[in-house]
Amino acid sequence: MPQKSAMTDKQASITRTPRPEWGKARRIVVKIGSALLVERATGRLRATWLNSLIDDVAALTESGREVILVSSGAIALGRHQLGFPKGALELEQSQAAAAVGQIGLAQAYQELCRARGLIAAQVLLTLGDTEERRRYLNARRTIDTLLAAKAIPVVNENDTVATTEIRYGDNDRLSARVASMVSADTLVLLSDIDGLYTAPPHLDPGARHIPLVQEITAEIEGMAGDPGSELSKGGMRTKVEAAKIALAAGTHMVITTGKVLHPLQAIADGATCTWFLAASDPVTAKKRWIAGHLEPSGVLHIDAGAEKALASGKSLLPAGVKRIEGVFERGDAVIIRAADGRELGRGLVAYARSDADRIIGKKSSEITAILGFAGRDELIHRDDMALSRK
Ligand code: GLU
Repeated sequence: MPQKSAMTDKQASITRTPRPEWGKARRIVVKIGSALLVERATGRLRATWLNSLIDDVAALTESGREVILVSSGAIALGRHQLGFPKGALELEQSQAAAAVGQIGLAQAYQELCRARGLIAAQVLLTLGDTEERRRYLNARRTIDTLLAAKAIPVVNENDTVATTEIRYGDNDRLSARVASMVSADTLVLLSDIDGLYTAPPHLDPGARHIPLVQEITAEIEGMAGDPGSELSKGGMRTKVEAAKIALAAGTHMVITTGKVLHPLQAIADGATCTWFLAASDPVTAKKRWIAGHLEPSGVLHIDAGAEKALASGKSLLPAGVKRIEGVFERGDAVIIRAADGRELGRGLVAYARSDADRIIGKKSSEITAILGFAGRDELIHRDDMALSRK
């Protein structure tokens, strides 16, 4: 149902040629803020705008792109229904509001997706799901499975159970963590402003728009404002923090205005926005992280057949592993060694030591019978492996 809006749902200002990265993006995470989704005065969803956004999502999926939405709005929707006062809420009030609002939010996405022949899937995460490697592998696998089945994951923080110490608190950083977890090539932050400026444009008439950032320098951080100030909460500061996470993971990030109808189509049409360009792609960035930044917890000694398989780009199957050293959990980093002891590479192992001990030397088809649960076929998937240079 169309509704009156305090914000203008106008067309985007088309000022540039679109960046080629947008055309090449295959896996895209889109963060949608509460202010875009929920009418402040009435606490109702901005249905016309959301309809236009889901039109864009449908068009992207139609053209073969995978889209993951990170949607805020649970608290903003729920607080109205519960009649909570305006202004800052206590933590437990926010949590109660999220419990109510998340239902409406999920329902809206479900209806709008269904009307376009798409399936919406609700994914509620807490900090540990992206920060602890074992849970990270689980969450990533679930999202991968949803995407493979052509569903649209709609992610939010599980605000109802997340307490202060274990909260992201803002969906800018949550969306960057999700983008890095699923190796997305592009993260879009739909904002109330069309990008990063040298100074807050509403305060400084001389503020210049920055179309492209290739490195997050101290100067760029300075433009984002003071982390401690109330004004910058969930503002440019957390967006630049999100950019750091994204760029380290090889994900490009774009800040663009969500105050227009069809905000994703607008990016393709060349709307004004700020692109943060990553120097490498997500696969290279992840392999570099595995190769250099993790303390290995164990060693897998493999046979000549498995060594050959790895060299030809295959995953490491339990059948090719002869011996294991060390104590590790699922998701920990381990070293892979050849029969003569050479280090072949490193990777994130898909089974804990106790389970790995029972399946090495065995066929992957036997895993379920041996362990009593269905795990992955690979001990280390090739995407989770960085081979040493020859
Ligand atoms: N997770 C919160 C919500 O759904 C929003 C956090 C944010 O706006 O960044 O209401």
